[in-house]
Amino acid sequence: MELKLYNTLTRDKSEFKPLEGNQVRIYTCGPTVYSYAHIGNFRAYVFMDTLRRVLKYNGYELKHVMNITDVGHLESDADEGEDKMEKAARKENKDPYEIAKYYTEIFFRDMGRLNIEKPEIIAKATEHIPEMIEFVKKLIENGYAYETSRGIYFDISKLDKYPILSNRKLDDQIAGARVDVDEEKRNPYDFALWIKAPENHIMKWESPWGLSYPGWHIECSAMGKKYLGEEFDIHTGGVDHIPTHHENEIAQSKGITGKIPAKIWMHVEFLQIDGGKMSKSLGNTYTLDILEKHGIEPLAYKLFCYTAHYRTKLNFTFEVAKSSQISINRLREGYLKHLEGKQKIENEIIEQYKQRFLTAINDDLNMPLAMGIVWEVVRNEVKSAQFAKLLEDFDEVLGLDIKNSKQYYTKQVQIELTDEIKELVQKRTLARQNKDWALSDKIRDELSEKGYNVKDSKEGMTIEKK
Ligand code: AMP
Ligand code: ZN
Repeated sequence: MELKLYNTLTRDKSEFKPLEGNQVRIYTCGPTVYSYAHIGNFRAYVFMDTLRRVLKYNGYELKHVMNITDVGHLESDADEGEDKMEKAARKENKDPYEIAKYYTEIFFRDMGRLNIEKPEIIAKATEHIPEMIEFVKKLIENGYAYETSRGIYFDISKLDKYPILSNRKLDDQIAGARVDVDEEKRNPYDFALWIKAPENHIMKWESPWGLSYPGWHIECSAMGKKYLGEEFDIHTGGVDHIPTHHENEIAQSKGITGKIPAKIWMHVEFLQIDGGKMSKSLGNTYTLDILEKHGIEPLAYKLFCYTAHYRTKLNFTFEVAKSSQISINRLREGYLKHLEGKQKIENEIIEQYKQRFLTAINDDLNMPLAMGIVWEVVRNEVKSAQFAKLLEDFDEVLGLDIKNSKQYYTKQVQIELTDEIKELVQKRTLARQNKDWALSDKIRDELSEKGYNVKDSKEGMTIEKK
């Protein structure tokens, strides 16, 4: 069946065909590892996971690269401010490499908790400095770049068209205050490829231009070319990458090969919090750990992401996310009931569900529609192991670890629990998943004081009134 994907570059949804054979080559802009990734960042990686899974479900093989930005991402995308890594290192009084190692590890731990598949190739910027230097040298040779006292800059006037990915009007912005006036730059929107390091800068490398470090955009261009070639199938990122980062990646590649590096550019819309922006100053850059403290599992957050199409904004509130926790519990309960079901279902019915599911996901990853079909199966009054199998098949795309529902599912013995007790039970389930036995014991004692006995078994936790 035809798979349709929306392309920011052509501004349309069209049929996907890999450039070469059955393999799909993808590049995803990965995290800048200067801090904990928040749930907004993870919306971007849940989207990445869905794309991977849908492509695989359609029978494609993947060669997927995700970079780790551990140098060169300045505070503002328009080459202003400090390197985020250096700033964090100074604040935490640590070495930037130590900072990168710590937050990279936490990032992959959280990816695991969300059951997000790891791309085939993970590429750290600091491990690709020679490739980046070569890229910049070539751009200078080809007449697309020039040196100033601050670094090496890309000359956008050398391109036939800039920008091409976004509709932004440069002239409007030149009049405004958004661009730093740098007398040495040939055009206000020329951007830094390579940055000369100030004396006290920690992350710097020998280069033809003295001790210096890469700009953020050159990293992705150089690593993409190294692993995926001059032209590959799909490039992904968040909508914030459209006007600057991806625009500049395209410019850089055109300066070397004359080609746009990826055929399809896919961008995920932002997660908002309480209808507004996420920001450190508002204290709402929630992590998965904070969600867990509110009794919301990582996989419940993943399910929450499926309530909106990736190209629409999604509004996070704790209230709605808590209802996603209830939903995932129901999903597991429904699956387990089907698993024990003895009824026979005609193959035709199973095939119809499969077709409808495939139609939904192949329509530019329409997960809200796909979830509607999943719920029809879960809630079907006819209990059948064939439906359980079907849900396992859908889970190839959902990645909600449905097969292991028993491990997550808390059996409640025919009693109505108050919200307070339910919350404690939820927290204890999470503590046990995280192997935090001390917390699990503490909550068991608390439940005991409140008049409930809990028992643990392979099937999960059972709670009874004393
Ligand atoms: P960063 O670590 O800042 O480079 O960002 C990592 C990824 O998270 C990028 O793909 C961003 O586009 C994405 N991102 C950042 N904030 C949000 C948000 N609120 N919602 C969705 N994606 C986001
Ligand atoms: Zn990138």
